[in-house]
Amino acid sequence: MLMPVYILLSLLLFTPSVQEDAYKAKREQMVEQQLKRRGISDKAVLNAMRSVQRHLFVPPSIAAEAYTDGALPIGYKQTISQPYMVAYMTQVIEPTPAMKVLEIGTGSGYQAAVLAEIVKQVYTIEIIPEHGKMAAARLKQLGYDNVEVKIGDGYAGWEEHAPFDAIVVTAGAESVPPPLFEQLREGGRMVIPVGPVYMTQTLKLIQKKRGKAVTRNLMPVVFVPFTREKQK
Ligand code: SAH
Repeated sequence: MLMPVYILLSLLLFTPSVQEDAYKAKREQMVEQQLKRRGISDKAVLNAMRSVQRHLFVPPSIAAEAYTDGALPIGYKQTISQPYMVAYMTQVIEPTPAMKVLEIGTGSGYQAAVLAEIVKQVYTIEIIPEHGKMAAARLKQLGYDNVEVKIGDGYAGWEEHAPFDAIVVTAGAESVPPPLFEQLREGGRMVIPVGPVYMTQTLKLIQKKRGKAVTRNLMPVVFVPFTREKQK
């Protein structure tokens, strides 16, 4: 049976799949203006940033701000990093589909989701139980079957899944936790903000070469502190 064009059109426009992602245009704009212009060029990273629905990783009250050019509060004094920082840290580890990546500082789960779009398996550790639980539920609901969340102190890494092809640390550490470097495979890369608490840190890219750390300082950054004990 033939349907008049206007009925067909309105059906198309109001089906959930079209409505659901009202933020698609904002994401595209974010990719063009915040990422590409500043030198994010890895296609897989750009595609991941286009795909992950960042507005679902922030508190619903600020969903409309999810694609703005900055970090946003996610509760318990923590923040979801600026889109550019997430893309940049993802790009510098040179992610490929075969990789197994460890993230320290799950927070909202957004960085984990971006990684999960590209690599084979993501392991992520969060010290604040509320964040860890919420992120795990959110990632599961969104279908990220290749992310495993653990609640605990990321300082010790995740021995049973080591070695990792890359490690992404999203909290500012005073120094590089030795267990993390140990759990990096030969040739693997770790990106980590290092510096005094509540001061500007230096984002460092560390590659393990013949067992030794080859370090490159990337840029000054400000991350929430890497803590060692459970927070209230
Ligand atoms: N990657 C997150 C943002 C992280 S904010 C996102 O995409 O939303 C940094 C997170 O690191 C916070 O949630 C904080 O609780 C966590 N964190 C700080 N120290 C930690 C530690 N020692 N182990 C694990 N997580 C830690």
